[in-house]
Amino acid sequence: MPTLIDIPFEQRHTCWFCAEPSNQVFDYYRMTHTPHPSLAVPACKECLGLAKKNPLTSIWDCRDAVKDQLMHIYRKDLAIGINWTEQELEESEFECKIFGGFKKSAWMMYQIAQGRINAKGWPLSLDGIMLDGENGHYQAGFEFDGVRFTSLPKAIEHYSNTLSLDARFLQQLVTLLGKAKFGHAIKIARLNIGITHEHQRKIIDELIEDADQ
Ligand SMILES: [Zn+2]
Repeated sequence: MPTLIDIPFEQRHTCWFCAEPSNQVFDYYRMTHTPHPSLAVPACKECLGLAKKNPLTSIWDCRDAVKDQLMHIYRKDLAIGINWTEQELEESEFECKIFGGFKKSAWMMYQIAQGRINAKGWPLSLDGIMLDGENGHYQAGFEFDGVRFTSLPKAIEHYSNTLSLDARFLQQLVTLLGKAKFGHAIKIARLNIGITHEHQRKIIDELIEDADQ
């Protein structure tokens, strides 16, 4: 079992990903290219499910992917804040009870979703040893081929779209090969456009075997 990260007292029931109440733990098992030890972070049920599907190449990349998915799941709630300000909602003409209740709950849902996406978690440490780099801040973003992306998932999305690659397959390849071999992952995905899921599975299995040797 991976070691649980250090948890500040005031965050002891908090999801590391989204700051909502947590009662579960996400185990992150390291691979050879992972820049940190295996570790466990507290998570809410929803973030746990999303994290399990998107381990990527580090716990921080995993967090970026969880945020992307939350943004997608709650896009309707988030749109409230894009389309309206709180004052506009208050001043809007729907004054009857039903719409009043709707406005209030819509705004609340927006604030909850926005809060979850903006939540930063706390700096990671294991038994008092900081993992987030020298100044306690993980270097966010990812650069490839001279282009800087806000996150690794964004880079995967970009290359999947521009090169018509299977995003899920490319993500699996990057997860397996590591960030440093991003170009190699793209090459494999490009050489295998349009193949079946079974064939993809076979390629992934072969790469896992190679990595074990
Ligand atoms: Zn969460």
